[in-house]
Amino acid sequence: MPVRLIESEALFARAARVVPGGIYGHQSPALLVAGAYPSFFARGRGSHVWDADGNEYIDYMCSYGPIVLGHNHPVVEEAVAAQAREGNCFNGPTARFVELAERLVAITPWADWTVFAKNGSDVCTWATEVARAATGRKVIVKARGAYHGTHAWCSPFPGGTTAEDHANVREVPWNDLAALDAAIAAVADGVASIILTPFRHDAFHDSELPAPGYLEGVRARCDRHGIVFILDDVRAGFRLHLGGSGEHFGVRPDLSCYCKAIANGHPLAACVGRESLRSAAQDVFFTGSYFTSAVPHAAALACLDELDRSDGLPRMAALGTRLCRGLEAAGRSHGFDVVTSGPPALPFMSFRDDPGQTSNRLFCAAAVERGVYFHPHHNWFLSAAHTDADIDRTLAVADEAFAIVAATRR
Ligand code: PMP
Repeated sequence: MPVRLIESEALFARAARVVPGGIYGHQSPALLVAGAYPSFFARGRGSHVWDADGNEYIDYMCSYGPIVLGHNHPVVEEAVAAQAREGNCFNGPTARFVELAERLVAITPWADWTVFAKNGSDVCTWATEVARAATGRKVIVKARGAYHGTHAWCSPFPGGTTAEDHANVREVPWNDLAALDAAIAAVADGVASIILTPFRHDAFHDSELPAPGYLEGVRARCDRHGIVFILDDVRAGFRLHLGGSGEHFGVRPDLSCYCKAIANGHPLAACVGRESLRSAAQDVFFTGSYFTSAVPHAAALACLDELDRSDGLPRMAALGTRLCRGLEAAGRSHGFDVVTSGPPALPFMSFRDDPGQTSNRLFCAAAVERGVYFHPHHNWFLSAAHTDADIDRTLAVADEAFAIVAATRR
């Protein structure tokens, strides 16, 4: 066990006795590089986090997306504390619920209503149900390999699901309108919904932006065939455009699903939709013990305000661009052809010709051991709290990490 991760490993050993798998889901250490990454964290501030042993990292995962303004953001945490003093969980919502719904409708040019939930999975599944209720059709079309949550219809893993759960789901390759046309034509009773992320950001894969005309082509097909277009903006939402990533890429869906960055780390999901789907939305039962909790609504109002009045969005794009160009140059100086992909605010880096992503795993392990937290298999996230000094330090660490990969692999 690495000396720097003693407490983290001890906590994991304790967790493994009382929690199946110790830590499960996307934060499972099995998806990282064994022995290199901390499993438990103690605190975060701005763009930095500290693990359970007190080691400090520049954080390029931002809790897998939620931290968009930086950890422990003073404005958001002040709004949280003020709401918590009044109370969080009541027999019904507070005024914050209405204010936030109004805000989301106001900032989304095409949306007329909002609902709230807790997780991205909640809103993605509910959106498909609204589409079914609105169209009277069953089939959902999604991109192969795209993640829309843990629910049985779309879970990437077969455990606990049945063939029936997937019976009304069709998968098509990303960026392929001909395949989409064929999938639509093959469904005699008509497709209820096409659900897509704004760009392809599957784990274990380089990110892929929508080809020119792809999302517009999807929109046109939805209009032609009466299909509900769902944008799953859970991962990218509020990092590319305040009005949703559809605005960034030039497409307007019928329903958009948000979670992660909406409340800078406080538990909240939302779905916004068009007037034409209001009555279907009312018909599809949706509730949860904490859906109307006021503290996350207060956090989201503060978070969206702060994103609106600050230069957070262009800042993430600019720093992400600097990071990507710097990584490419550092890689080249060690003889590597590295590929950066995705929008700069949610970048990813891989090595060309790297079967099993072995070089990337070595690179990321060397980086995390030096205080830079990248992920070898999942896209990264910038926050508005990252600084040029963070990027300078990161590129210095990357230079050392590339040298280690070069020494190990040659
Ligand atoms: N959709 C996308 C695009 C996601 O990235 C995620 C989470 N990684 C989800 C849905 C599911 O969100 P949650 O984990 O909050 O249920």
